[in-house]
Amino acid sequence: MNGLVVASTNGQVGIRAAIEVLRQGGSAIDAVIAGIELVEANPDDHSVGYGGLPNLLGEVELDASIMDGRKLATGAVGALQGHQDAIALARQVMESLPHVLIVGEGANRLAAEVELRPVDLLSADAERTWRSRLDSPPAGHDPYIAKVRELVGSLSRDPELADDHHGTVNFIARDRHGDIACGVSTSGWAWKYPGRLGDSPIIGAGNYADNRWGAAACTGRGEMAQRLCTAHSVVTFMRFGLSLDQALRKAVEDLQALDDEYRSEVNIIAIDKDGAHAAASTDPGKTYVYMGDDMDDFIEADRVHVGP
Ligand code: ASP
Repeated sequence: MNGLVVASTNGQVGIRAAIEVLRQGGSAIDAVIAGIELVEANPDDHSVGYGGLPNLLGEVELDASIMDGRKLATGAVGALQGHQDAIALARQVMESLPHVLIVGEGANRLAAEVELRPVDLLSADAERTWRSRLDSPPAGHDPYIAKVRELVGSLSRDPELADDHHGTVNFIARDRHGDIACGVSTSGWAWKYPGRLGDSPIIGAGNYADNRWGAAACTGRGEMAQRLCTAHSVVTFMRFGLSLDQALRKAVEDLQALDDEYRSEVNIIAIDKDGAHAAASTDPGKTYVYMGDDMDDFIEADRVHVGP
């Protein structure tokens, strides 16, 4: 069976490394981690890992999750500070703890305990962007709620601004045994309320994998994917007989029908149990990447657009 890796477009920097893991006989989990780690380390990606855009207070908070489709094992971290390797930490949660999701101070503690390298995540570029829309950084008793509504609201109203100010990386791998794994990592929305978790660390919302039916992962406005359990829905639709394409279309139709004052794009990548892949978006012109272990390089392909 051929190995396959499918990723959001910003996964380009890691997809070759992920395929190399599969070529060497590594597992889908190892491939997903190898691919995402390179995106987390990429200073030019302001939506993931080091250089990610910070919350309202100027603190970079990372969310990540990993799911192993063999046994529905999963681990996730949220609002992690001071460490870049969010996906590696999610794996630690899955493999070392009797828990699924660890957030905030607990995630920071775990990162230190497993000796992940401490990193100051706020790059000069990201700090400049963060400051650019704040007259003055909020202090002790400032009304954060109003500020978040204004800043996060402007991201959903201005698609150009939004393109640069949020994002996430998705990786799905299927190894030579036919096992599936799915990973997601993000710094979330710029200027988010401190402690806000999006869909990325919420299993079923931004990430789901089940060897028996397939896998799906999301980028975009996490609150919409959270409300609809979008990743789990795509997999469940396939479970109940929809094709990969039908399942993606149904999930995007549901997103389009959702009433949301801060509506913004949501994008999904998915594979079915046989390793067919596809991707969809609420917005036109979006792409994703894929690479098989028999291919010389990745291909960037169009996502299906499902309109309102
Ligand atoms: N889904 C991410 C979140 O809501 C952000 C994004 O992909 O744009 O945190």
